Amino acid sequence: MEDHYGHRISYLRVSVTDRCNERCQYCMPQEEQEWLARDDVLSYEEMLRVIRVGARMGISKLRVTGGEPLTRRNILWFFEELQKVEGITDIGISTNGTLLDRVTEDGRTTAQALKDAGVRTVNVSLDTLNPEAYAQTTGRDYLDRAIAGIDAARDAGFERIKINTVLMRHKNEHELWDIVDFARERDLLLRFIELMPVSTTQVLTEENFLASGEAKKILEYRLGDFIPRPEIRTNGPASYYEVPETGQILGFIGAMTNFHFCETCNKLRLTCEGKLRPCLGSHLEFDMREILRNPDMTDEDVAKFFLEVVDRKPEQHEFRENYQPGRKMIAIGG
Ligand code: SAM
Ligand code: SF4
Repeated sequence: MEDHYGHRISYLRVSVTDRCNERCQYCMPQEEQEWLARDDVLSYEEMLRVIRVGARMGISKLRVTGGEPLTRRNILWFFEELQKVEGITDIGISTNGTLLDRVTEDGRTTAQALKDAGVRTVNVSLDTLNPEAYAQTTGRDYLDRAIAGIDAARDAGFERIKINTVLMRHKNEHELWDIVDFARERDLLLRFIELMPVSTTQVLTEENFLASGEAKKILEYRLGDFIPRPEIRTNGPASYYEVPETGQILGFIGAMTNFHFCETCNKLRLTCEGKLRPCLGSHLEFDMREILRNPDMTDEDVAKFFLEVVDRKPEQHEFRENYQPGRKMIAIGG
């Protein structure tokens, strides 16, 4: 599948739930959250059907996300089924990490069970190492759990564990070095991510927004000038650099300030209620659930739908153009 701008689509991010055990300020609205009714959310079987058709059309990489994917019941079963889909060669999960060390019925950690179910890469969100700042940012006092989850993932022996840190002025600006040390000591691939106005435009104020270029300069002040490593690609828009003394690799994801951000985009997103979205930073979304639940519609119709959505994929996101948030990040699946 290829769009009008030469984006070849091989990557599907699948959100399995809009629910979460945390309440990150930039992801969830502050007001009382209205969760989707169970019937509105796609069943695992419906998601698997979309993925099977997608795989026939060139999707080879999947990332399961949410909300917090590990809060959905029987999620391990879903991963086991994903592993069986022909054509899917790379399965990852994005998680806040707090449930990775939860012990399953058969005595394994959730991290180990994910590994055994064929998950290759785990992305854990961790914005701060300060317990108070963590509680303030996520609305939950779960820093210890997140770190225990990261340790469980390390014990499970994943091919790669990435840490995603959202940059926030006045919140984690002063501890970026500590986060770099944390990642280096544990052999985790750290990426810094600029805030995006997905759920609220308030995140882009002087008060909150910290550009990735500025974060890089802050780090270089102590660590020396970074060496660009453009050859490192992780299927996403991060720019990678090497820290001179230690050789540590750091990624910077600058949706707001990097004007080439969308050039290599290879993604589609499936929301948990069955909307197929061609771009995170655009309000375009197309309802697949209607097709999936219509007994007259076949897999060929699902395939046609994929092509129609790819056909409408925009050249680039609209975040820089006074974008007004629509659906919240938690309901899209970051
Ligand atoms: N709950 C999981 C987690 O936190 O990793 C998966 C879902 S979460 C929506 C996926 C990613 O989106 C997280 O790394 C989170 O930090 C990021 N995210 C959420 N809202 C964001 C925003 N407004 N700007 C930038 N990143 C955001
Ligand atoms: Fe939950 Fe992840 Fe959103 Fe935080 S970023 S509220 S952990 S879904």
